[in-house]
This record gives sequence, structure tokens and C-alpha cells, in this order.
Amino acid sequence: MSNIKMVDLKGQYEKIKSEIDNAIKNVIDSTAFINGSEVQLFQKNLEKYLGVKHVIPCANGTDALQIAIMALNLKPGDEIITVSFTFVATVEVISLLGLKPIFIDVNNDDFNLNDDLLEKAITPKTKAIIPVHLFGQCADMENILKIAKKYNIKVIEDTAQALGTDYTFSNGEVKKAGTIGDIGTTSFFPSKNLGCFGDGGALFTNDDKIADTIRMYANHGMKVRYYHQTIGINSRLDTIQAAVLNVKLKYLNNYSIARQNAANHYNVELKNVDFLETPDLAPNSTHIFHQYTLKTKNINRDNLQKYLQETGIPAMIYYPVPLHLQEAYKYLGYKIGDFPVTEELCKRVISLPMHTELTSEQLYFITNTLKKYKE
Ligand SMILES: *Cc1c(COP(=O)(O)O)cnc(C)c1O
Repeated sequence: MSNIKMVDLKGQYEKIKSEIDNAIKNVIDSTAFINGSEVQLFQKNLEKYLGVKHVIPCANGTDALQIAIMALNLKPGDEIITVSFTFVATVEVISLLGLKPIFIDVNNDDFNLNDDLLEKAITPKTKAIIPVHLFGQCADMENILKIAKKYNIKVIEDTAQALGTDYTFSNGEVKKAGTIGDIGTTSFFPSKNLGCFGDGGALFTNDDKIADTIRMYANHGMKVRYYHQTIGINSRLDTIQAAVLNVKLKYLNNYSIARQNAANHYNVELKNVDFLETPDLAPNSTHIFHQYTLKTKNINRDNLQKYLQETGIPAMIYYPVPLHLQEAYKYLGYKIGDFPVTEELCKRVISLPMHTELTSEQLYFITNTLKKYKE
């Protein structure tokens, strides 16, 4: 079996090639490369898909997080609570803005922020919480919102890995990930569930005032052209990327189903493998499997990864080193043992190939190869 990829962007593109090529060609013909009509159209389409009042497109998911935090107008030294088990971008922007990241541990079952630990981490300086909807399922937003409200703290959802995930409240109300807190952010990096052909990102909010502030910060701190109210940045989604996203958004739900089908195969076939634990499903969230992440049990995870790679099966470790133990974040003063669940997960997790084009033959090859592993 050859040609199993971690992510198969080429196979996905081939299926909608003429639609995409036309969309790109139309932008080139128009030469409206910045702020062309496809950008407003994508904004409207995504607002409708998510059921949110405002989508503000920007240049990438890291900028989206940075702009979201800028829009809160915090002071140096203010604290933002988030997790150490995430992609670095979540934490990087907090530090860059002169604010202080405060980590809390995650759940062993769904890998998301452990909201039971949230209240203890809150101080008078806490101004925001950033739950990360890791690997495709939602953190427990209902409880996070309840605590945030009690202490008057803003909630920014990092939705880079969960665009399209549904969260159900105890009263039955269903909302899309990213539209639940004060601000949601996402990324359209090519390998994300909704990926463009370069960099892209967006912010979401239902609050008109926050939306205005976000637009101002993303556009050089101006509301009226050449009148700068504040120090902003330049962060735009370019028209070609918006045109690609307008085509691909139509297929996002089908893409999620394809990922769920692949995950289902993995779950069924690997359930009884004694050195693996299949992923747990969060009770109030759907799972769109940005990653399919297993936990290894009583084996050397890195040897398993090597074995898979030698058999032609790519497998990745998301994430090998928690952020609180990274060189760059030493200054925060955390040490080994501070977040035991996070640290344990970093040693045990392994992610299998996950994309929309996996064939049944490939899936069986992967799971049969895994079952044959002996240490
Ligand atoms: C990908 C990702 C980002 C950053 O998105 P970019 O578009 O690459 O800047 C932020 N947070 C998480 C959790 C991500 O997975």
C-alpha cells in the first residue's frame, strides 16, 4: 500500500478542480485582489453557515487570536487563562501583547480545558479565558460561560480545529463552535477542516460593538480612512483565498462526514487493541476530527510511530512538548509536574492519517498494520 498521506489536499482539490480554477480565474480577471466582492460574499456565507451576526475575515488564525485579544483593550500584566496542550499560537499572542498566560490542565478524556480547575485559577487580574476546541470537539462551554459570567471575564474560543462542530446546551439549544463565547477565532490554513490555498483566518462575534472594534484593529486602527484612532495591524483575507473558501464552504459538512466515517473505522477496528485507547467523545459536542488522536498504553509511543512510518503510514505527534515546558515560555516559571494530565498526554498521544479522501482499503491497511505491532 503506497501513498497514504497525513492530509490529502491534492485528492480533495482534484474533485472540485474546475469550480476552484474558475473561481480563482475570475478573481485574476477582476484584478480586485484585496477586498474584492468574494471577500464580502464569503463573510455573508460563513455568517449564515455559523448562525452568527458578524464574521470578520483576516490574514490567518494567529492574527485572529491576536486581534481578538487586542479588541478587549487589556493592560500589561492582565491575565488570560488557557491550556498548555495546544498549538503555540494560542499562547504566543497573549505574550506578544504583554499579557500573562495562565495555564490550567486539560481533561484526560477529551483533551480540552478542564473547567473544574478554572475558578481556582482566576485572580483579580484575570480578564479572559481562551478555551481551545482541540482536535475537533468543543470544550465544555456551558460551564465555562457560567464561570466567566460570574467573574465578568471575556471568553475567546480558539476554533481553528473545530469549524463546523456543534455544541448542545443542557436546555437543548445548539450552537456552532466559535459563536458561543464573546469572540470566536479560526484559521483557514490549508490542512484545517476548511482550508484555503494559502493563509487565511476569521473572527466571529454576535456583539456589534466588539465587531466594530475588531474591524478597526484589523485595519490599521482606523474606522474612517486615514484617521487612526488606535495602533492596529494590517490583517486581511485576500480575494483569491475568499473565492476558494466560497467554493469549499459548500462542501464543509460533507468533509466533516468523510472525516467522521474514517474515525468510525478507526474506532471500531482499534477498540480492542490493548496498547491503544481510542478517543473519547465529549458529551455535549459533535466531533469533526480535525485530528484522530489515540493514546498509547504501556508501550513506547515513539517506537510505534517509527514502525508506522517504516510501513508507509504517516503518524504525527500533536503535541510532543507542552507549552509550559517550552524554552520560549520558561520565563513564566512553570515546571515539570505542574500540569500532570497535559504532560502525560504529550508522552502518549499519536495521531493517524485523517482527511476527506481516505479509502476503505487505506483505512484497513492502517488498522491491520497497527494490530500487528509488537514491541
Ligand atoms: C492552526 C491553529 C492556529 C493558528 O492558525 P494559523 O492560520 O496557522 O495562524 C491557532 N490555534 C490552533 C489551535 C490551531 O490549530
